[in-house]
Amino acid sequence: MVLSVSKRDAQRSDQGQPGVQLKSYELLELREFERATDEAVAVKAVLGEPLAGIGNRDEALVPLVIVGYDQLKIEQILKDERRGFGALRPIAVVGLDVAGLSADILHLADVFLPPRPGKQDLLGVAHSLAVLSTHIDRLPRAPRDVSLTLLQFLYTRGRDVEPHVAPESPIAYRFPLAENLLECDTLECCSLLQDMASRGLLDTRHIDRLFVCPDCSSYRVPVKELCPECGSSHLDAEESIHHFRCGFVGPESEFAGKDEPSCPKCFQELRHIGVEYNRPGRFAVCRQCNYWATEPDLAAWCADCNTHHAPADLAVVQIDNYALAQGGTDVARRGRWTPQPVDNDRRIEPTVGAPTPRKLSDNDYSRELAFKVVELAQQSGRPMTIYKAVLNSGQGDKALADAREVLRGILRDSDVVVNTGEAEMLILLPAHDVADVPSAAHLEAEAEKRGAIDLRVTVVDGGHSPAGKIKQA
Ligand SMILES: [Zn+2]
Ligand SMILES: [Zn+2]
Ligand SMILES: [Zn+2]
Repeated sequence: MVLSVSKRDAQRSDQGQPGVQLKSYELLELREFERATDEAVAVKAVLGEPLAGIGNRDEALVPLVIVGYDQLKIEQILKDERRGFGALRPIAVVGLDVAGLSADILHLADVFLPPRPGKQDLLGVAHSLAVLSTHIDRLPRAPRDVSLTLLQFLYTRGRDVEPHVAPESPIAYRFPLAENLLECDTLECCSLLQDMASRGLLDTRHIDRLFVCPDCSSYRVPVKELCPECGSSHLDAEESIHHFRCGFVGPESEFAGKDEPSCPKCFQELRHIGVEYNRPGRFAVCRQCNYWATEPDLAAWCADCNTHHAPADLAVVQIDNYALAQGGTDVARRGRWTPQPVDNDRRIEPTVGAPTPRKLSDNDYSRELAFKVVELAQQSGRPMTIYKAVLNSGQGDKALADAREVLRGILRDSDVVVNTGEAEMLILLPAHDVADVPSAAHLEAEAEKRGAIDLRVTVVDGGHSPAGKIKQA
């Protein structure tokens, strides 16, 4: 059985992608008593020989297969891997029974296989890892920015930040994935996630609402009944008696008599319930001071800081599931923030020898934007013509701005011009009727005529059917 936690993978597998194959991978075998594992033998037989080392490869793109039976060791490896430059790395764990997996392993690994996996399952894992690696490769990454890395993790996996019930946590829940990727504790993680949600990067879904100590934020705040008179918790519940004749109301123990109960106020015996007396309900009777009350005081007692609080004074903690919102998806795809990073102090420094992250110029972002627009157009199924326009006369911002200006004068309002290079633009012309679209030759001639601009316009994708896949080369 392959337990794949990536919805995206599952979708892709359904469509079948025979072109995507695992090119290379790293194998980490945790041997016990120096004995080789059957699982490592099986992995090599199906996935081929693993790399001897990462070398100068991009760590995030080389899938890791961890083979072993020691949950604690594997958990620690996963925690270490999901930090820094390799945080997005596709990781499979082979050899652990899925049923007993710890929350950290479940949240941090991508795919799991139990001991003695079959060939088909291993092929499935190879495919999942390869697809994930391809997907990660397409992203401009910013590994020093942990918040952005979290968004890209969710984006590449099609996953949510899910809270996990954890009695040891001060708020009774943990976020194993987010806490590890963001490198912070539960409370800090919680506020960071809420901050990202308030910026439209994440969508929240209600999971729970808890009350915690206003002093120390602990959820261990059992409610106690206290005597309103002396404050003791030494209370018992007792039935009460209401004597109609004299109007006295008190706990049953005060109506003790020889044979029949008798009223402690007027000393009459009580024989007939409903005629002489009734039982209006239970009382709280204090064994410390004998005070009794229909409603004892309620207090929330914090077991961590040993203080009492009125229940109304407890602080509220909202526990949510966080899914990638449109804003977060955009940031994940672009690999940068617009306009503001979530939290600049949370960037981590590159480790020694780590590859310098690819620096993106503004043109790269324009290209990304252009590809995004083209992709959206393709998804919408609307017919669209795409031209590439290369500037032969001059380069730089001024020349490009002039050319854009002239093109804007020729094109219709619905057409889009995006800079994709020093002297290159993409022109997107949506149209239901191809006859509406100006030809490439017409654009060249008009640019020459109106602005003396030497523009070479070529068809990237043309107009009859929804645009084909544009190459990112
Ligand atoms: Zn407390
Ligand atoms: Zn009392
Ligand atoms: Zn009485």
